[in-house]
Amino acid sequence: MNLPRNPTRAVRIGSVTIGGGHAIVIQSMCATKTTDVEATVAQTNCLAEAGAGVVRIAVDSRRDAEALAEIRQRTRANLSVDLQENYRLVRDVAPSVDKVRYNPGHLYHHEPQRSWQDKVRFLVDTAGENDCAIRIGVNCGSVDPAKREMFDPADSISPMLHSALEHCELLDSLGFRRYCVSLKDSDPLKVVEVNRRFAAERPDVPLHLGVTEAGMPPEGILKTRIAFEQLLRLGIGDTIRVSLTVPNPRKHEEIEAGRQILADIAAGRLVNLVDFSSGGLNIISCPSCSRVENEAFVDLAQQVKQLTQDLTDKPITIAVMGCRVNGPGETDDADLGLWCGPTFVNLKRGGELIGRFSYDEVLHKLRAELDCLISNRQKAGTVPRDR
Ligand code: SF4
Repeated sequence: MNLPRNPTRAVRIGSVTIGGGHAIVIQSMCATKTTDVEATVAQTNCLAEAGAGVVRIAVDSRRDAEALAEIRQRTRANLSVDLQENYRLVRDVAPSVDKVRYNPGHLYHHEPQRSWQDKVRFLVDTAGENDCAIRIGVNCGSVDPAKREMFDPADSISPMLHSALEHCELLDSLGFRRYCVSLKDSDPLKVVEVNRRFAAERPDVPLHLGVTEAGMPPEGILKTRIAFEQLLRLGIGDTIRVSLTVPNPRKHEEIEAGRQILADIAAGRLVNLVDFSSGGLNIISCPSCSRVENEAFVDLAQQVKQLTQDLTDKPITIAVMGCRVNGPGETDDADLGLWCGPTFVNLKRGGELIGRFSYDEVLHKLRAELDCLISNRQKAGTVPRDR
C-alpha cells in the first residue's frame, strides 16, 4: 500500500528532513540522567544505531545544559532538546542541538509578568540564530490554562487544538517556518481526533505523532498502532515516536516498534479500531526520561500490571508517572494515579491526593483502593458483580 502524504512543508532537523514528502522519521528520547554523560551518550548512540533519526534529551538545569554540550561532542546523532518551564535555558542548549521542543502549557510558570508571546519570540530568535528547528509540543496533561477555560471541561480536544494553532500563527507572523507540531494524549482515539482536526486546518505543518504515556508493551504498542494506522493512512504524520515504559537497556524497542508499525501499515497489515476508552483495565504510564525521580519507576509500573492481572475486564484507568513535572497533571483524569517522588509515591484518586507512601507500601494501598472502587461501582451498578 502506498501511503498518501499531506503536502506539509519540509523541515530540516540536523541531517534529516521531515515533511515535504520525505520518509517518515522515527524518533525516541533518552531516559538516562542528562548529567550522566557516559550513559546518555551510550543511549543516544544505541537509539541512533537502532534507526532513530532524532534523539531527544531533557534539560532542566544549567548542569544538564553543560552535560548536553559534552554529549554533543561525543555523538553524531541529530539531537532535540526537551524544555519545560525554564524556557530561558534555550540560550545555553540551542548551540548543542538541532531542534528545540517547547510545551505551550509550560510557558506560564516562570516570569508570569512576561507574556507568552514574548517568551516564544525569545525561543524563536534563539533557535533561528543556532540553526535549530522547533517543535510546538502540546500535551493533554499540561494544556495552556487560558485555553482550557475557553471550552467545556468535558472537551479536552479543543483547548489542545487551539493552543497549537495559536502558536503556529505566532511563529508564522515572526517569519519562522522551520517548525512542526505534536498533539499528544494517552487515549489513541483522542490523538486521532485532535490530529485530524489540526491537519484539516493546517495541512502545511508537519506533524510529529505519538500516544503519550502509552505504557508497557504489548499494550503500549497496540494503543500507538491504533492511532498511527488511522492517521498515517490519511496522509497525516511526518515523524513518529512510540513511547514505551521499558527499562533503559530495552529503550531501542521504541524504534523497532515504530519501524514495525510503519512496515505493517505500508503492507496493509492493520489491527483496526479498538476502543480502549470503553474496554477493560487501562494502565497508562510514561516512558520515563532524565527527570524520573527514582529508577524504581519502571519496576513499579510493571508491578502495577502484575497486581491488576485479575482486573483486566474492569473499566478502570490507572496512571503511573515518573516525576513531578508531568505526574500531578497527567494523573488527574485517571481513576487512580501514582506519581513518583525520590523516596515516596503519591497515590491519587482522580484529582485528590490520598497520601504519600514508600515504594514498598504503595502497591498494597493501591490494591485496597482498587478493591474499594470496584465494590462501590458494583453497588452503584456501573460495574457488573463478579460471578
Ligand atoms: S512524567 Fe516525568 S519522568 Fe515521565 S516522561 Fe514525563 S517528564 Fe519524564
